[in-house]
Amino acid sequence: MNVQPVVGIERGTGIIVPIYKVTQTGLKCNCVCHSCNGRLEAVLNTVRRKHFRHSNKGNCNPMPETELHLLAKQIILGNDHIYVPYRGMLNYCDPVAEVGYNELIPDVTITIDGQPFYIEVIVTNPIDVLKFAKYRTDLARVMVIDLEEEDRDLEYEVLVDIVLKSSSNKYMLDYGEHHRILPGSEGSSGLGWILAGIAGFLLWLTFGKKKPVKRYQRKRRYR
Ligand SMILES: [Zn+2]
Repeated sequence: MNVQPVVGIERGTGIIVPIYKVTQTGLKCNCVCHSCNGRLEAVLNTVRRKHFRHSNKGNCNPMPETELHLLAKQIILGNDHIYVPYRGMLNYCDPVAEVGYNELIPDVTITIDGQPFYIEVIVTNPIDVLKFAKYRTDLARVMVIDLEEEDRDLEYEVLVDIVLKSSSNKYMLDYGEHHRILPGSEGSSGLGWILAGIAGFLLWLTFGKKKPVKRYQRKRRYR
């Protein structure tokens, strides 16, 4: 039983392509598999969920976790506003994926208030100690989007909302006494910190104790 991929990589450009954005059927979709690099055909005229299939029937089994991670990145790359803890919805520009910084590779780097802002999307692998240490060396502003509890087969539009608008699945990397929330906050008055503390406490009251609720029934994509 093979899992049918719903994410392809455009040949030549490397752009992440969700099946929902594909308009050309078959090989005309011009995509390869993110896992094995094999050619993909888009299956759009189906009563079931649209999907890709490998044109050479190999043994590739793309991981739904990897696809969720890719989709989240693609959503950030294709938009210009996102919810940031303590700050609310913020505009950003110049989103780039997998660009090296300080010997590590953030999932996505965006620019907020003219300064770099890093985003890590977590599906299965938490941020390891080494990565955390490297971010901490220059007190990088890093927001974590935790999708671990989310369905691997979320509808695309639901995932867009979760990635961009949801507040309950996001937190900033906390470096203890050196903690900085966003560009400019290091020079702010004590009042700013007090307000941030109150906001954080309210967030914790609202979301901190709840187990995330499964929003949608998991639909399996086996054939
Ligand atoms: Zn493959």
